[in-house]
Amino acid sequence: MIDLRSDTVTKPTLEMREAIFNAEVGDDVYGDDNTVKELEKMVADKLGKEAGLFVPSGTFSNQLAILTHTQRGDEVIALEDSHIVEHEVGAAALLSAVTVRTAKSIMGEYDLDELKSLIRSDNIHYPRTSLICLENAHSNGRAIPVFHMKEVSDIAKQYSLPIHLDGARIFNCAVSLDVKPIEIAKHADSVSVCISKGLSAPIGSVLVGSSEFISKARKYRKLMGGGMRQVGIIASAGIVAINNMIDRLEEDHINADYLGVCLDEFKEVSVYWDRLDINMVFFKLNSDVNLVDELLKRDILINVKENGVYRFVTHCGIKKSDIDKVIIAMREILNNEN
Ligand SMILES: *Cc1c(COP(=O)(O)O)cnc(C)c1O
Repeated sequence: MIDLRSDTVTKPTLEMREAIFNAEVGDDVYGDDNTVKELEKMVADKLGKEAGLFVPSGTFSNQLAILTHTQRGDEVIALEDSHIVEHEVGAAALLSAVTVRTAKSIMGEYDLDELKSLIRSDNIHYPRTSLICLENAHSNGRAIPVFHMKEVSDIAKQYSLPIHLDGARIFNCAVSLDVKPIEIAKHADSVSVCISKGLSAPIGSVLVGSSEFISKARKYRKLMGGGMRQVGIIASAGIVAINNMIDRLEEDHINADYLGVCLDEFKEVSVYWDRLDINMVFFKLNSDVNLVDELLKRDILINVKENGVYRFVTHCGIKKSDIDKVIIAMREILNNEN
């Protein structure tokens, strides 16, 4: 099977399985798991923050950040097409009892004037704005320029608001922009990072921020049911992910680019080149074929389109030769149609 659905389908590498087998573990709720502590410190150091916290998923991490930054009844600002708004089941309303005020997204960026206008003033009718969210790399496939993050962070400072960065794919972003991850993270107070996507660890995300923020988040993590015990078993794979899997992300980006070029040769396909910065190729297909079923017949897995757009994702399980097979399959499917 060639699986283009997501980079979350990546399986732990042999080295990770060895690390899992040999992991030193303890009860992490008692603070006894040195492997978890090591992973938390590694990610915090890499992103220039004081402390880190290992959590079960990226959604958990973002929602924990919102819960930690806000109080019940507050308002959070996020882009209309961000993961927090579109793919987290509306959790902020349920878990943090906050409203999310959405801003229009210009290819994953804020309109700065609009952003300022969305920040509430002190008025008896208004909720309190207490957080601004950023996402980079954006789930639309774009690596947002660091300069934009700085502009948003300048506004946040002006209004004394914290910034949470959903950095699920922050390392893809850093590779794509050719900057150190710390240069991206420095424009946010808290950052959430996935180790189970392109980095191929089986489970988990790490939330980083100031020591004070992370101690508060640690308690809320327990409240949310995320206090795990001998969790060094999975954190050990995360350590391998951070040490060995970041530099190779470039290969996924090169493959995504190659896939984009090949797909674009079909007259029915238009690739969104303006957001092909990382490992995700978004494209429109001008044809009535059932692409999901047709590719599945040829042992290729894809997701159904979202808002009329397909997304093919490259990762360490996809080689250049797999892409050639995908293109051969696409040729068969589209030619049959004509
Ligand atoms: C994948 C992803 C998450 C979190 O995903 P989980 O499936 O909950 O681990 C959050 N934000 C972005 C931008 C993502 O791509």
